[in-house]
Amino acid sequence: MRDDNCIFCKIANGVIPSETIYEDDMFRVILDLGPASRGHALILPKQHYKDICELEEETAIKVLPLAAKIGNAMKNSLGCAGFNVVQNNGKAAGQTVFHFHVHLIPRYEEGPVMVSWVPGEADPGELTQTGDAIRSALQSEGHIQ
Ligand code: 5GP
Ligand code: ZN
Repeated sequence: MRDDNCIFCKIANGVIPSETIYEDDMFRVILDLGPASRGHALILPKQHYKDICELEEETAIKVLPLAAKIGNAMKNSLGCAGFNVVQNNGKAAGQTVFHFHVHLIPRYEEGPVMVSWVPGEADPGELTQTGDAIRSALQSEGHIQ
C-alpha cells in the first residue's frame, strides 16, 4: 500500500528526489535532510507502514541485514568509528514522519550526537509488576502461553 499524502512514500518511490545511497525493489536508503552527523541515512520501505507495528514480516526480516550493509559501507567510506540504528514509533518516542523508517547515524570520535537516556534504578517489585503486565498482553494476543 502507498499513501498519497505521505512524503516518505513519495521519496521512497522516486516521486520526490532524494540523495539516494541504495535502492532495491523493496527499499530506498536516503541521506537525512536534518542529519545528526555526516552520513545520517534513513532506510525507507517502498510500501507504506505507519510504524514497526504495521510492518510486514517479509519486509521486517530484510531491515537489519540492510542496516548492517549500509553501516559497514559508512565505516569504510566515511571513517566513522561506529553507528547507531535508531527507530522511533509514535509521537511520544520522537516519530515525526509516520512512515516506518530506520535511522543509521554514523558516530565519529568527536561530535555531540545524543542517542541516550538517563538510567533509572529498577525496583524488583515494580519490575515483576511491569513484567506481568507485558506478559499478560503478549498472552492475550497469543504470542506466549
Ligand atoms: P523521525 O523523527 O520520524 O524518526 O525521523 C524523521 C527524519 O526524517 C528526521 O531526521 C528528518 O530530518 C527527516 N526528514 C524529514 N523530511 C525529510 C525529507 O523530505 N527528506 C529527507 N531526506 N529527510 C527528511
Ligand atoms: Zn508512506
